[in-house]
Amino acid sequence: MSPAEMVRTGPLVLVNQFHPLEREPDAASLLPPDNRRPNILLEARAGTVLNRFLSDLGCTGEIVPVSGYRSRAEQEAIFSDSLRNSGEDFTRAYVALPGCSEHQTGLAIDLGENRPDLDFIRPQFPDTGVFRTFRRRASEYGFILRYPENKTAVTGIQFEPWHFRYVGWPHSRLMEEAGLVLEEYIRLLNDYPESGAHLHFHDRDRSFELYTVSQENLEALPKRLPGDTPCQWSGNNSGGVVVTIWRDVP
Ligand SMILES: [Zn+2]
Repeated sequence: MSPAEMVRTGPLVLVNQFHPLEREPDAASLLPPDNRRPNILLEARAGTVLNRFLSDLGCTGEIVPVSGYRSRAEQEAIFSDSLRNSGEDFTRAYVALPGCSEHQTGLAIDLGENRPDLDFIRPQFPDTGVFRTFRRRASEYGFILRYPENKTAVTGIQFEPWHFRYVGWPHSRLMEEAGLVLEEYIRLLNDYPESGAHLHFHDRDRSFELYTVSQENLEALPKRLPGDTPCQWSGNNSGGVVVTIWRDVP
């Protein structure tokens, strides 16, 4: 994979109005997390983890997927339908520009309360009962509430209690603990370059070491990673790749 492709690949890709999607997900990696809704697709790992989470909470069928992966053409259709039916102010607040929607990554899912009048653009996701528990525990499963109420100035998107994004563990945990949205988290990790001090973090008998490798330094990155330790990398879609090294704490 070329350095440019690496930057565009992985669960930490940032997609927003300033960072459009640069690489469509592989069609083969998109699967329906809920077989009763075969048209709603999610990147395979995100979907598997979501199902496990819903089943651990005992709320499969109560919290249901409403919208997952969208192709560019689908996002265009949603955007123009919304402009026509709900006007420009509503559309700019709740519907991302085509090419700039996280839904195009296959890593974002809108979830809602299973009811007959389920709203496709703004599904009901109350702050009570199992919904509240889901939101509170999402980071344990690698998901984050992507557009919180207090971060609209950073994300450029209104509060969306129904929109969750898979970023994977331990990133979800770090973001939750520090109160950071993805824009802020990517910026924070940029302060830990490969050649400088790395970010160290402990949780669940594990220690994590994180740093960002900029695109111009990505050549031969796999050879520089430790061979004997679990290690992951993900592009950030903003000029770099985040490396995460996992170690057991004895
Ligand atoms: Zn959404």
